[in-house]
Amino acid sequence: MSSQPTKKLLILPGDGIGPEVMQEVRHIISWLEANRGLSFDISEDLVGGASLAQYGEPLRDEVVEKARAADAVLFGSVGDPRWNHVGFDKRPELAILKLRQELALFANLRPAKVFDALVDASTLKPDVVRGLDIMIVRETVGGIYFGNPRGIETLPDGSKRGINTEVYTTAEIERVARVAFDLARKRSNRVCSVEKCNVMESGLLWKEVVTDLHAREYRDVELSHMLADNCAMQLVRNPRQFDVLVTGNLFGDLLSDLASMLTGSLGMLPSATLGAVDNEGRCPALYEPIHGSAPDIAGQGIANPIAQILSFAMLLRYSLNMQAEAVLVEDAVSAVLAKGLRTADIMSDGKTRVSTSEMGAAIVNEL
Ligand code: ATP
Ligand code: MG
Repeated sequence: MSSQPTKKLLILPGDGIGPEVMQEVRHIISWLEANRGLSFDISEDLVGGASLAQYGEPLRDEVVEKARAADAVLFGSVGDPRWNHVGFDKRPELAILKLRQELALFANLRPAKVFDALVDASTLKPDVVRGLDIMIVRETVGGIYFGNPRGIETLPDGSKRGINTEVYTTAEIERVARVAFDLARKRSNRVCSVEKCNVMESGLLWKEVVTDLHAREYRDVELSHMLADNCAMQLVRNPRQFDVLVTGNLFGDLLSDLASMLTGSLGMLPSATLGAVDNEGRCPALYEPIHGSAPDIAGQGIANPIAQILSFAMLLRYSLNMQAEAVLVEDAVSAVLAKGLRTADIMSDGKTRVSTSEMGAAIVNEL
């Protein structure tokens, strides 16, 4: 048993299945407090459609301030079709976009890990994905989604042209590459940097900056470079060649969705988004499942809570430095899957179908 100072968590369950899967994390937190001598100072608040209904806006400033003050934020998901009629400036989804911006969360970490028990759920052959454990680090606040000039212009002949620009600065590339190198040191010590330096200036700078940083500070980490198109192919051909991949916003968006399907189910995939470490060594961080609010299955008690639970395990590992507890939670998930328990989304022949709360309880039991 360890005795650690109280950690401040902000829990934002959000909409749809968010509150249902978050409830299962709550049980795990209670178990950790009762059995591992941990103490969490937890506050919970409304975001997304739930906040719109109560306060008329998807994310209150008060919640942003609470997020800043917390050691980490555990986010559910936002999105509710009942708000589809409101303008873009009042959509539930704005809650997460604004929160990422306000906390300047620039590095999105998406692991793609294949659990032995679910090796058949992958879209690839079991032999190709067995044991797969990769981490994609995607830059999230720069690149072509935000660069200027941008817009749709009307030309003299009346036709139009749409413009987006990929802009990356040395500082933006360096800080995300640093996250990737630091992560690699805690994993298999390999980083593959992905860009298209053969056709893009920003890609050329990307490669140069990553190479320089590596030479200056991370010589112990094995660094390779790959063109983004080749990387997409390699992820499907032989994904286990990778450990940590680091790339820009656009390529990261595509490659991380591609990689997620190597593992089979949306209900299994966590993520983390990290900001810059401040002078006191604090780093803003938000953890959330890859999946959305899944309104089609909300309220039925059938959602898979594992993505949310594994997001909490990432929080333990990266924000609270509680490696042992993170491993404990991840191993409990593995064990429950090995015993054949399955929520509907990962159900297959001969396995035991369980509800959201039964899956959560089985994981707590395994701890
Ligand atoms: P969003 O815009 O919020 O990302 P989306 O429609 O893109 O929403 P999801 O909400 O993730 O995506 O839902 C996609 C599909 O996956 C739905 O059919 C949903 O029911 C299913 N799904 C998502 N998460 C889970 C989960 N945790 N357990 C079971 N099924 C899930
Ligand atoms: Mg989606």
